Amino acid sequence: MNIYNLFYKAPAPEGIEERNAHIIGGGIAGLAAAVFLIDDAGMPGKNITLYEKRNSLGGCCDAYSGEAGYICPGERELEPFMECLWYLCSKIPSLEDPSISVLDESVRANKDMPIHSESRLLCKQGHIYEKVHDYRMSPELLLKMEHFTSIPEKDLEDMTIEDYFGKDSEFFHSSLWWCYHSMLAFKPYHSALEAQRYFNRFGLLNRLDYLEGILHTKRNDKDSVIKPIHKWLEDQGVTFRMDTAVYDLEMDEACNTVYGIKIKNQETIPVRAQDYVLLTSGSMMTNASYGDNTHIAEINRDTEDMGLFTVWKNLAARNKKFGNPDKFLSHIDKTKWMSFFLTVEDYPEFFERLEKMTGSKSGTGGGITFMDSGWEMSLVIYDRDYFPDQREKNRDVLWGDGLFGERIGSYIKKPMAECTGNEIIEEMLYHFGML
Ligand SMILES: Cc1cc2nc3c(=O)[nH]c(=O)nc-3n(C[C@H](O)[C@H](O)[C@H](O)COP(=O)(O)OP(=O)(O)OC[C@H]3O[C@@H](n4cnc5c(N)ncnc54)[C@H](O)[C@@H]3O)c2cc1C
Repeated sequence: MNIYNLFYKAPAPEGIEERNAHIIGGGIAGLAAAVFLIDDAGMPGKNITLYEKRNSLGGCCDAYSGEAGYICPGERELEPFMECLWYLCSKIPSLEDPSISVLDESVRANKDMPIHSESRLLCKQGHIYEKVHDYRMSPELLLKMEHFTSIPEKDLEDMTIEDYFGKDSEFFHSSLWWCYHSMLAFKPYHSALEAQRYFNRFGLLNRLDYLEGILHTKRNDKDSVIKPIHKWLEDQGVTFRMDTAVYDLEMDEACNTVYGIKIKNQETIPVRAQDYVLLTSGSMMTNASYGDNTHIAEINRDTEDMGLFTVWKNLAARNKKFGNPDKFLSHIDKTKWMSFFLTVEDYPEFFERLEKMTGSKSGTGGGITFMDSGWEMSLVIYDRDYFPDQREKNRDVLWGDGLFGERIGSYIKKPMAECTGNEIIEEMLYHFGML
């Protein structure tokens, strides 16, 4: 994008006010589609209906505030080149200060609190890895890396990262790999093509070992992005059908035209020839399950109802132009990625200790990875403004994940996927050298 295109307001397409839009999925993708239909395409908000399976919007970017603490499944490592996201945010007034946009609010937050990591990799129970900034590689590997970033995508299709670099490659022991893969949740058997895209996007633009250039919103994504968009869309007259799970689309034989939207246990919504149906395809959170301090998050093996993936599977079964959803669905046991969110109340000393150990003020350090952790645990320590009511409740929060939920922990001798929240926290404390 550039100024010439960005600030040009195209005329609304002829007849747009006669069309309706049905958007399936209330994550950031569905919400963005609604905003762009209204603001760029000139569709009246009242012509748009958004269908959401749960009673809350945001999907991956959702977050909840409760009596016992907060739930926040994801954390976003943003960067300045996410053009669609920032374009979207530039259109939406901030909830806390409607005189500025969500984009303005985010830029200010990053100027006030830029991310700079002093302890990207920790090892030996709380020590900074001495080679974290040492990206030296053998000349052969350097050449291979250079080639990797420019090789045409078609040559990387159906190839894993370890197919490209070699299973025992020194690459997988390099600081570059440690910083890169733990930040972006890559495992050696993941797609080389995806890895190349992410390398070109994140890997070489930012100083990965300091996480410089990584951006954040003022608060969590729900409060800073999803809620303001929701309010803006409501003000425009968009209809939100919550607790409404779509499970299939009625289409013509060639799968070019949608006639109806099938809602689980309810009616089929008729779609007219001039209307639009925008289906989002689901994400890693779509079939997530939750645990708590004393309960394990049960692995969801339901193959009957996989939310948006079921809709996608139904379409793909009819026509191969819809792609191959099984690429994302067929390896449950290989992909036990898990996240956790910790709320600590009335105990600021704990976070002060973490600040001392990591060398970064809470909210500015970005991701920290425990290299010795069997689960490959990583953390992000937030400041006290991550949730609006945090300060008054004297709460501190951090988010964490384990890339290898199927492996045995270093302190807790079980796979992370079989652990309660309390056990996960014990493992974390061990790696901080506190147990
Ligand atoms: C922990 C974590 C960290 C991440 N970090 C980053 C990052 O650093 N940078 C980055 O760019 N991206 C990151 N992502 C990815 C990014 O957040 C997602 O790609 C994005 O939010 C997906 O948005 P979406 O709207 O496509 O899907 P989702 O957010 O999954 O939304 C889909 C919505 O559809 C609803 N739904 C499901 N089934 C149905 C149905 N049958 N009918 C109707 N509605 C249905 C769901 O309830 C949900 O609300 C991360 C994701 C996670 C989980």
